[in-house]
Amino acid sequence: MSIFEERESEIRAYSRLYPVVFEKSRNAIISDETGKDYIDFFAGAGVLNFGHNNPAMKKAVIAHLEADGVTHSLDLETTVKRSFMERFTERVLEPRGMPHKMQFMGPTGTNAVEAAIKLARRVTGRNEIVAFQHGFHGMTLGALACTANSVFRNASGVPLQHVRHYPYGCEPVCLGCTRGCGMEGLERLRAQYADTSSGVAAPAAFLVEPIQAEGGVNVASKEWLHGLQKLAKEIGALVIFDDIQAGMGRTGSFFSFDGMDLDPDIICLAKGLGGLGTPIAMNLVKPEHDNRWKPGEHTGTFRGQSLSFVAGTEALDYFKDESLMDEVKAKSAKIFEALAPLEKHPGVQVRGKGMIAGLDLGDGALVKEVVHKCFDAGVLICPCGTGGRVLKLIPPLTIPDDQLEQGLKIITQAAEEVLQAA
Ligand code: PLP
Repeated sequence: MSIFEERESEIRAYSRLYPVVFEKSRNAIISDETGKDYIDFFAGAGVLNFGHNNPAMKKAVIAHLEADGVTHSLDLETTVKRSFMERFTERVLEPRGMPHKMQFMGPTGTNAVEAAIKLARRVTGRNEIVAFQHGFHGMTLGALACTANSVFRNASGVPLQHVRHYPYGCEPVCLGCTRGCGMEGLERLRAQYADTSSGVAAPAAFLVEPIQAEGGVNVASKEWLHGLQKLAKEIGALVIFDDIQAGMGRTGSFFSFDGMDLDPDIICLAKGLGGLGTPIAMNLVKPEHDNRWKPGEHTGTFRGQSLSFVAGTEALDYFKDESLMDEVKAKSAKIFEALAPLEKHPGVQVRGKGMIAGLDLGDGALVKEVVHKCFDAGVLICPCGTGGRVLKLIPPLTIPDDQLEQGLKIITQAAEEVLQAA
């Protein structure tokens, strides 16, 4: 019996899917201790957008450590935090005319969501958050209340309160709407908030993933996101975008909602923000809302990690021109071209944007079989969506073309075999 089976908590999950011990990793390849290579179509659930052990980031982190740079600083001002904030301003905020402040908090995505909903409640003086069906926002109680999946919710041990879930408007298939864009659902919400006898008060915020990742790779339409933003403005609620998994270049631009002319009050980022895989979370907050925090009111020991600032500053260099984003668009075309033929099977659907793609087989058991076949053939890939019915393809953006093609071949062959046998 391995030490993992003997001593690691029953809670472990991904390791049950891939029963080997990993040792090394480089860009899109992760190798186990026997030396077997796997092409990584999982990439730390969206953390490793720039690949495992990205050479520029690794070099910068090693140089920082060699120079006895500050490694932990709570929220003290440091040279590396300054560099990160300056570069983020230059590469992301200024080009978009965004006045947003950067709030650092505990280092994981769920910490960002907690801070965002807490601030929205403060700003509006209201309790309720509207989140959406199939949404995933993290595991701490406030964020968990916003997460829709009952597997996670049922483990909470206490009632999850002050959140309502409504259907998510998405394309090409709208969950909960017949018109293909989710607008009917927004009209129903509008009527409900206008009716003083509906029993439903206006919320503090709408918390939404512009692309739901864990929920099954559901892509909200521009029309629906605009409709949601308009409704929020009408009723004095904030709009919080959770771009924790779909942001940082994943869809071919920095934010997953770039180019849609949207104006969120708060944007939650984490995962890929630290570049190398060390943790960091950050909310971008409109100054008029950020002003409502009192100093030190939302604290945390690990706010803005130095190593994440160092590697994250390097990561931001990928956004100094369009070369990586052009690559993402070209690789995206290959992904969707490879997956499209599988839609000939009844009930199979391909969804996504940029380099996040979902292959919905409609059945978690089938997806599991595909995952096992891929693993045996040297590809790491993970299920998502209700009952694990969707295969999520989320390789590093920097994956070389030949590995992308090889991985796609393995995935599509495995899916074809499983679907034919079903
Ligand atoms: N929000 C989204 C969209 C996510 O995908 C995740 C994690 O998968 C989270 C929040 C929670 O992030 P973390 O697991 O780092 O707390």
